[in-house]
This record gives sequence, C-alpha cells and structure tokens, in this order.
Amino acid sequence: NNIVAIVGRPNVGKSTLFNRLIQRREAIVDSVSGVTRDRNYGKSEWNGKEFSVIDTGGYVRGSDDVFEGEIRKQVELAIDEADVIIFVVDVEEGITPMDETVAKLLRKVTKPVLLAVNKVDNAMREKDAVEFYNLGLGEYFTFASISGSGTGDLLDALIEAFPEKPEVEVKEDLPRFAVVGRPNAGKSSFINALIGKDRYIVTDIAGTTRDAIDTKFDRFGFEFNLVDTAGIRRKAKVKEDLEFYSVMRSVRAIEHADICILVIDATRGFEGQDQSIFWLAEKNRKGVVILVNKWDLVEKDTMSTRDYEEKIKKELMPFTDVPILFVSALTKQRLLKALEATVQVFENRKQRISTSKFNEYMLKVIEAYPPPAMKGKYVKIKYCMQLPSPTPQFVFFANLPQYVKEPYKRYLENKIREKWDFSGVPIDIYIREK
Ligand code: GDP
Repeated sequence: NNIVAIVGRPNVGKSTLFNRLIQRREAIVDSVSGVTRDRNYGKSEWNGKEFSVIDTGGYVRGSDDVFEGEIRKQVELAIDEADVIIFVVDVEEGITPMDETVAKLLRKVTKPVLLAVNKVDNAMREKDAVEFYNLGLGEYFTFASISGSGTGDLLDALIEAFPEKPEVEVKEDLPRFAVVGRPNAGKSSFINALIGKDRYIVTDIAGTTRDAIDTKFDRFGFEFNLVDTAGIRRKAKVKEDLEFYSVMRSVRAIEHADICILVIDATRGFEGQDQSIFWLAEKNRKGVVILVNKWDLVEKDTMSTRDYEEKIKKELMPFTDVPILFVSALTKQRLLKALEATVQVFENRKQRISTSKFNEYMLKVIEAYPPPAMKGKYVKIKYCMQLPSPTPQFVFFANLPQYVKEPYKRYLENKIREKWDFSGVPIDIYIREK
C-alpha cells in the first residue's frame, strides 16, 4: 500500500484536500467502527488503487506563527514515511518564505513530489500560478480544494507517481507481526528478549525505504516475520515525545503486518498515543495483541491484572475482544505466552467458518432475538455466510437491509465472538438485500 503525505505551510488547504481524498473511504469505514478518532490519517482509492494519506499538517499548531523548525520536521517526516509527497501552495498568497523553505527541502528528495497549487478556480488564477515554477520543483498541478475542481488530474498524477514496488518484503508468505508502541514502552527489549543471545534469526531484510527491520524467526515450531519499528527512531531527527510522530511512524509497519503487538508501558497506562496506534491497527483490520510491559515495576497490591485489564478495555470500546497480557521484557516474564497469544490471533484471523455451521448457529441466534420491526415492517434474515476475504467478514441477507441498525449488528458480532474465537481480530458485518 502506498503512502501519500500532504505537506505545506498552515492554511493553504491541506486539510481540505486531505478530507476530500479520504471522504468516500472514510464513510465506508466509519459505518463499521462507528467512530472517527484520528484526523491525520485516512485511506483513499482512485482508479482502483488504494493508498493511505497522511496530513502532516495535522500536527503543526499555531497557524499564524509556525516556526520554520516545525515545518522542517513536518517535511522530514513526510520524506521518511511517504512514497509520494503532495506539496500544497496557495495561489492567492503566492510564494511565501515558508514555501521556499519547504521547496528547498523537497528539491533534494528522490521521491516523487507533486506541487499542487490550491485556490485556482478561474483563468486569471491559472495565469498567476505560473510563478510557482520558481520553486524549482518542475510542473505543477492547479486545483481548488473547496470545489474539488482539478483534484481528478492531481489524483491521476499521484497514481502515476507511485513507485513500482518489487514485493521484496513479502518474498515468503510468512505471518508478519509488527511490534508497535510508544518510544520507551519496551519494544526493543521485547524483541531482544525473544531473540536472546542465540541467533534465531534466519535472514535480515532491511526495509527498502527505511531501516525498519524484518527478522525472520523460526521458533517454537512456528515461522514468522517480526517487524521492528523500534529501530526507526534512531534515524528520526524529530523529538520523540511528540505524539503525532511516533504514531505516524507506525503506519507503514501496521499496514504491512498481519498482527500488531502493541507494547505499552505498565507504569504509564494506556495513553492517547497507545489508543491512536490501536485504532490504526483496528482501522486497517489487523489483528491486535496488547502487551502490558514492565509489569515487574507495578506494585501488585495497588493494581491487579484484572483491574488493569478493565481499565484498558474501557478505552478500547467497542472493540474490546482483544488479548491483554502482562509481561516483562526485563525478567522475560510471560514472553512466550505473548508470542503464543499472537500466533492464536493470527489463526483466529484466518479462521473460516463453513456456511452450514454458520447458518445453523446464527439463524437460531437471530430467531431468539430478531431485528426490531420498523415502521410496522418485519425484518427477516434467512441466510448468512462468511465471505472469502483476507479478514473476517460476514454477510447477512435480509428483506429490508436498511432497517438493520448498528446495535443489531453489534449483537450479531457479539454472538459470533461468543461462539467462535475471534479474539484480537476486527470483524466486519454486512447486511445485504437477499
Ligand atoms: P522502545 O523504545 O519501545 O524500544 O523501548 P526500549 O526497549 O528501548 O526500553 C525502554 C526502557 O525501558 C529501557 O531502559 C529498558 O531497559 C526499559 N524496559 C523495557 N522493558 C522493561 C521491563 O519489562 N521492565 C523494566 N523494569 N524495564 C523495562
């Protein structure tokens, strides 16, 4: 999946463009999860090509007096993380010193950069836009983010610019587990503890565009790739305490993984940043296991695992069916359990339920508690099945699908989870006309 970053100084229309790009997809995704929690990251597609969009400007605050340093960080992040960069400028304002700064950074980049001139909605402005050649970035695209005019051409160019990716990273079809989490949560320690002094590593494949490391494991009778995001920060010049950055740094690792092992620091709890990473995994329909690390530091009298788990689950709502393990990378407590749980989630995610078994159970569940009648009409569901998709999706055929609302879908999901083990795995429920 290609990653597109939108950069530019504040108020040039980055967010409007971002929203425009993700709009359609977002609507679909949100009808499933019911919530939007992040405004800086979204999925989009054009001409059948899917991609992810990062609005790096979502971070930069203080629209009027942004420091050059902030912009610099934003652009560096984009350069590190994205496959293609869209640099937005504003024809009304013309070239500002900050635009020059951004252009200077982008001129050095080998990745494709699309210069997009916003607010061009008439012939006059089309003429004015010529000045942007002076940024030294070559051809530019004109558009108007408010009306959307011109965005089609921009998107065509964007798709064209995506690099041809030799799929080196998935040479072998091994399960991919990404170790993600805040800086200092203990990701490296966890991986090192697993690898130990003995070399279980079979091959090292350095990430193509970055130094995230894929390590192939052959352990415990199970082969898998461990994707280490911890290494990424060594390269990062930006301050690590900035929430936005480390979340964005997890994007690619999460997208390329089957399962995310989210490591949190027990002494700090499940924070906003952990939530954002969890949400990224959920939104990408990845399996998730949560490791509460540094459990050795927690006074067991003050907090039991059960209390702690309850607290975390409140934050995970509505997707709470997730394994939570209490580990210590330092004392190596329960690390094998953690790996076992991860493998289990991987199996859960691959699980296929036969259509006959699914109907046999679900139709009874539906009979016991049918969808509520609406406007005097009864909703009937007579048939259902699991779709042959890479992540668990279930379709229920109804006479009046539009009357089956979110709470009922949740009921169906809960019943599926009661009967079959989908722990750690996001599920999609679709209601279709029979
Ligand atoms: P990363 O940034 O997520 O890779 O975190 P590190 O693995 O570098 O760990 C950050 C700090 O926490 C280091 O000082 C580790 O020694 C410490 N640490 C990691 N795991 C544990 C643990 O389970 N218990 C304790 N007490 N300290 C830990």
